[in-house]
Amino acid sequence: MTDLPSLRETLDAHGLLARKSFGQHFLLDLNVTRKIVRLAGPFEGRPVIEVGPGPGGLTRALLESDAGQVVLVEKDARFAPLLSELDDGSGRLTIVEGDALKVREAELVQGPAHLVSNLPYNVGTPLLIKWLTGPWTPHALTLMFQKEVAERIVARPGEDDYGRLAVIAQATAQARIVMHLPAAAFTPPPKVASAVVHLIPRADRPAPELLKRLERVTAAAFGQRRKMLRSSLKPLGGAALCEAAGVDADARAETVDVPGFMRLARALKS
Ligand code: SAM
Repeated sequence: MTDLPSLRETLDAHGLLARKSFGQHFLLDLNVTRKIVRLAGPFEGRPVIEVGPGPGGLTRALLESDAGQVVLVEKDARFAPLLSELDDGSGRLTIVEGDALKVREAELVQGPAHLVSNLPYNVGTPLLIKWLTGPWTPHALTLMFQKEVAERIVARPGEDDYGRLAVIAQATAQARIVMHLPAAAFTPPPKVASAVVHLIPRADRPAPELLKRLERVTAAAFGQRRKMLRSSLKPLGGAALCEAAGVDADARAETVDVPGFMRLARALKS
């Protein structure tokens, strides 16, 4: 990768400017992208899917790593020629033009695979939910989010950011913030700071049907987060549901831990 032109030169040579509608904020410093890849690995020959490679800064670092295969999913067709320049013909790099919300990952890779991405802010949360609750589960995920979203993913009970996203993410995975990046690290800089979250899906991930019930319970409980559960969960069974789950009906959603929400989901009749 060292004999390639710089990312900035590559963007200029292809006449490419960032598009706001695609959430494009590029990482052009390879020291930063290499650090993210170090935090994500080792991959030990497993495949890596990268969503939204854009000009390929993270892709270059992934190609330098021990990933067995690097599969790119990019919605903006303008980047395909530039990304093909990273292909050494070995068959290790695959470029897929498409919307990551719609692709079926199981058709792109075989066996356990990592996800490593600097996600577009507008679809970061739906993509995370897709990967944590969908039929296809990654081996591990290392994803850049806007800082506020990253904090909502790892928040603990009693913290302001604790809500539906924290419960769903932590019921399905172990999640921690591994890196913070200021807006100035991106070209063009976004309005907010960013953070990289590393997630390892749990081996005992709840089944899809139970996850649906967990989503119903958290939607009702956090929809009225300042109310007691006996009231916010009334449409789902209120105090009786809480009693069946062994959760204090006078508690508020923001103080109930993830195992408490799991018990409520299990107690909820489907
Ligand atoms: N990975 C590059 C980097 O770090 O410089 C670019 C990151 S930029 C924040 C997000 C990228 O995701 C853009 O290249 C954008 O075109 C792409 N993108 C936006 N929405 C997408 C979607 N639904 N599916 C796949 N790629 C998408």
